[in-house]
Amino acid sequence: MTILTLNAHPDDAETMAGGTLLKWAKEGHRIVIGLITDGDKGTNDPLDTPEQVVARRAKEQARAAAQLGAEVIRLGYEDGLLQPTLELRRDLVRVMRQVRPDIVVSSDPTMWFRHGLYINHPDHRAAGQAVLDAIYPAVKKHSIFPELAAEGLEPHVVSEIWLGPSDEPDKWVDISDVLDEKIALICEHASQFDPAYTREAFTRMAARVGAAKGLAAAESFRTLRLARSTVQALARSNAPWNVG
Ligand SMILES: [Zn+2]
Repeated sequence: MTILTLNAHPDDAETMAGGTLLKWAKEGHRIVIGLITDGDKGTNDPLDTPEQVVARRAKEQARAAAQLGAEVIRLGYEDGLLQPTLELRRDLVRVMRQVRPDIVVSSDPTMWFRHGLYINHPDHRAAGQAVLDAIYPAVKKHSIFPELAAEGLEPHVVSEIWLGPSDEPDKWVDISDVLDEKIALICEHASQFDPAYTREAFTRMAARVGAAKGLAAAESFRTLRLARSTVQALARSNAPWNVG
C-alpha cells in the first residue's frame, strides 16, 4: 500500500498518527509525508527569521521521516494563515495524482476544541477541509482541473481516508508496542516539543484513547472507505456503511 499524509505542519502526522504510521512502515508500506506549510511560524523567539525556522524544522522532519522510511513532499504554503482555497485544492489534487495513495491521512476539519484545553489550530481545519474537497470529486475526475490531466496526471481513486484527531472516531489502532517509538518520533521535532512533558502527555493521551477499547495505548481515527462509484457501493449488501 501507499499511505500519504497531508497535514498543515511538520509534526502533525507524527502527533496524530505516529504509532499507526510506524506500524504501517514495519509492514513494508510506502509512506509519503505531505507538508502543506513548512511551519515557518513555529517559534516564540522574535529574533528567529522564517528562513531559520523553516531550516530547523526541515531537519527535524527529515530525522522523523527517516525513522519511518518516509518520503517528504512540501507544498510551501505560509504557516498560520492557511485557507482551503481552490489553489490549495489543485495542489493537493496534483500531489495525490502523483503519489496515488491507497490511504490518505489528514486532519478532521470538524474538530474545533481539544480536551477542554485548547482551540484546534485553524490550519488543521483548513488542511482537512482542503484535502477532503480535493479527494471528492476532483482527484478522480478528468474534467476538474483539466490542466492536471493535460500534464499527464491521470485521475485516481483514494480507497480510504483516516482523519484525526476526531470527536467521532470509528477506528482504534493499538499502538502499545510502538508507543516509545512514537514518542521518539515526536521528540525529533525538538523545537516544538519539550521532552520534559512530551512523554507524559502522549502516554496519557494514548491511554485515554485506548481506554474506550480496553487497550493500553491507542490512536483513533474517523475513517471513510471510498468507492469508484458511490451508488454501486451503496447498492451492495456489504456496503461500507454496513461494515463495523
Ligand atoms: Zn499543526
